[in-house]
Amino acid sequence: MKRLLDKVAIVTGASSGIGRATAKLFAEEGAKLVVAARRQQELDALVKEISHAGGSAIALAGDVIEESYAEALVDLALQEYGSLDIGFNNAGTLGASGSTPDITLEAWNDTINTNLNGAFLGAKYQIPAMLRAGGSLIFTSSFVGHTIGMPEKAAYAASKAGVIGLTKALATEYGAHSIRVNALVPGGTNTPMAEEFGTSPEVVEFVKQMHALKRTATPEEMAKSALYLASDDSSFTTGTTMLVDGGVSINKT
Ligand code: NDP
Repeated sequence: MKRLLDKVAIVTGASSGIGRATAKLFAEEGAKLVVAARRQQELDALVKEISHAGGSAIALAGDVIEESYAEALVDLALQEYGSLDIGFNNAGTLGASGSTPDITLEAWNDTINTNLNGAFLGAKYQIPAMLRAGGSLIFTSSFVGHTIGMPEKAAYAASKAGVIGLTKALATEYGAHSIRVNALVPGGTNTPMAEEFGTSPEVVEFVKQMHALKRTATPEEMAKSALYLASDDSSFTTGTTMLVDGGVSINKT
């Protein structure tokens, strides 16, 4: 039995990495998808791939910091598929890097806008569409911000810690409406974002060693965890920060 049969999902950050892998897995599991990101070409390629595999997806390109885009994604889901059951608010950026005194307010705001305000806007428009039948909202946080600090990544860490606060607040606000709200907390995952940390063998090895499993994750491993949170398998799970971090949080070596 497919685990998301006839469910309707919005997946943001679907042009790449974790979002792309999750969109493909959700479609394999029977979900009808609205896929979102800024790059139209990548979204079109994903839709084609999903359709060829027998799935159902439509794309709408835009920027998650735009309120009108958050609204349009929900409108599209309702128009095309008649309901909304799952919102995977996953789009994110590493954003402003550097010593905190050198980070401009503009760069700080850009990072917070995408990672935290984008998550808020997603929820703001997805929640009303779920009030009748319930649903599952998932936000992508990070081990940076949840578990560890990281030098020169203050804006990213603050935005990802903010996502956890948002998750907990919404879980209490909408539990009575059967809307479950959870945060996925990935460890290092092999995506273009991870490459921004550095691609030299030394950096790659250092990042692996941060994890108890002594490796980083594939996007597909994150997709399986997002599937758990999206599906009825997690029907009594809300307000959690689900660590899928290869043991970063408990590793001391
Ligand atoms: P990628 O860089 O591969 O993907 C990021 C996605 O977000 C892309 O699809 C990008 O699409 C989209 N995106 C970024 N900014 C915007 C924006 N302003 N509007 C719309 N879409 C946007 O990275 P990951 O897959 O690794 O990242 C997914 C999530 O996982 C992020 O929230 C990240 O913070 C989190 N994470 C990642 C970790 C890792 O090690 N990779 C570890 C912990 C958390 P486009 O450019 O087309 O707009």
